[in-house]
Amino acid sequence: MDTNELMKEALAYHAEGGPGKIEIRPTKPDATQYDLSLAYSPGVAAPCLAIADDPAKAYDYTIKGNLVAVITNGTAVLGLGDIGPLAAKPVMEGKCMLFKHFSGINAFDIEIDTTDPEEFIAAVKRIAPTFGGINLEDIKAPECFEIERRLVEELDIPVMHDDQHGTAIIASAALINAMYLSGKRIDEAQIVVNGAGAAAIACARMFLALGARRDQITMCDSRGVVTTRRTDLNPVKREFATSRPVTTLREALVGADVFLGVSTAGVLDADMVRSMAGNPLVMALANPDPEISYDEAKAARPDVIVATGRTDYPNQVNNVLGFPYIFRGALDVRARKINETMKLAAAHALAELAREEVPAELAAAFGVDRLEFGPDYLIPKLTDPRLLGRVAPAVARAAVESGVAQRRPDIE
Ligand code: NAP
Ligand code: MG
Repeated sequence: MDTNELMKEALAYHAEGGPGKIEIRPTKPDATQYDLSLAYSPGVAAPCLAIADDPAKAYDYTIKGNLVAVITNGTAVLGLGDIGPLAAKPVMEGKCMLFKHFSGINAFDIEIDTTDPEEFIAAVKRIAPTFGGINLEDIKAPECFEIERRLVEELDIPVMHDDQHGTAIIASAALINAMYLSGKRIDEAQIVVNGAGAAAIACARMFLALGARRDQITMCDSRGVVTTRRTDLNPVKREFATSRPVTTLREALVGADVFLGVSTAGVLDADMVRSMAGNPLVMALANPDPEISYDEAKAARPDVIVATGRTDYPNQVNNVLGFPYIFRGALDVRARKINETMKLAAAHALAELAREEVPAELAAAFGVDRLEFGPDYLIPKLTDPRLLGRVAPAVARAAVESGVAQRRPDIE
C-alpha cells in the first residue's frame, strides 16, 4: 500500500465507529438504583473517608494503581516536530491504546498547553494524585531532561519519559545481544551515537550503565562530533563531549564497533559501514526512514548486524517492547520510581527472551517456520506474548531489590 493510501485509511480508522481510539467503561454493576447508591452517593462516601484517613487506600478503592497518564506538551511529536498539544492527541491516544493492549494498564492522555518547563512541571504535579504512574511523551530536548529529572525527584509515583528510556532500554537489549553474538565486550566497544537529543542522551547514559566507557563513546549532532573544543553545547551534550581529534561522523566511525542512529534519515552510507570494525552493530533508528536502510547496510558487508525502527525488516527497535511492561512491573509493586536498576533489568529480560528458543507455534504466528537467535533475530518480536510474563516481573523484582517497591504481591 502506498503512503497516500495508508494516510487515507488512517483518517477513516480514526473517524469511524466514534472518533478517536479509546473510551472509558464502568467496571462495576450499574444497572439498579442500589448499584448506583454504592457507586455514587451515598455509598461512595465510605471509600472517600477511608482514603482521607489513609491515602494508600486509594489503591484499593480507585483505579489509581492501574492508571497511567500519557502527558505531552506536543513539542517533539514523532518525527513531526513541534505541532502543539492538540495535534499531538492522536499519538497520545494511540499510546494509551497500546498500554491497554499489551499490559492491561488503563491510560488517559493529557495534553498540556505550555512550552515553559516550570509551568509544565507544576501542572503535572497538580494532577499526579489521579494516577499510579506518569509516562511523559514527545517533549522536546533539552527541556525534557530537566522536566523528567524534577518530576522523578518530586513525585512518589513512577515517572518515565519514554522517548528517552523506552528507546534506551530496547537499544540496550540489542547491544547486549549483538555483543553476545560477536563475542565482544561492552567495556571495550567503540560506540558512535549519531544524534544528541532525547533518545541519544538516554541511550548513551544507559550504555554507560551497561559498562561502556565514556571515553569510547563518540556523539554527533547536526553540526558534527560533539567535542570538548565546541562552545555551543548544552549541558547534556557536554556530558558526552569527546577530546578525540575527529569532527565528522565519517571520521568518528572508522574502526567503531557500534553505530547508534537516533537522528535523521540517510546520514550513513555503505562506505561508512565498511570502515567500521569486524561484526559491527548498526542501529539505524530514525523514523520513519532510518539513517541507512536495512538492505543497504547489509549489502555493504556480510558481517554487519542491523536494527532499525521498521516493521518490515528484522530487529525492529520499537518502544512498545518496553513501556507497557516497565510500567506493569512498576505498578504491580507500587514502585515509587522507575530507577536505573529497573531499566537495566528490563533490558536484560528483553535480551534473554530473544536468546530463548521460540516455540514453533509462536514462529508460525509471526509468519515464519523457525525463528532462532542470531543477527536477524536479536530482540523479541513486538507481539511476542511472552513479553508480559518476562519483562514485567523482572522490573518488579528489580524494584523490590533496589528498595523502591511499596508492596510485594508475591508475599502478600
Ligand atoms: P530529538 O530530541 O529531536 O533529537 C534529534 C537529534 O538528532 C538532535 O540532537 C539533532 O541534532 C540530531 N540530528 C539531526 N540531524 C542530524 C544529522 N544530520 N546528523 C547528526 N545528528 C543529527 O529527537 P529524538 O526523540 O531523540 O529522536 C531522534 C530520532 O530517533 C527520530 O527520528 C525518532 O523517530 C527516532 N527514534 C526512534 C526510536 C525507535 O524506537 N525506533 C525511538 C526513539 C527515537 P541537534 O541537537 O544539533 O539539533
Ligand atoms: Mg514518543
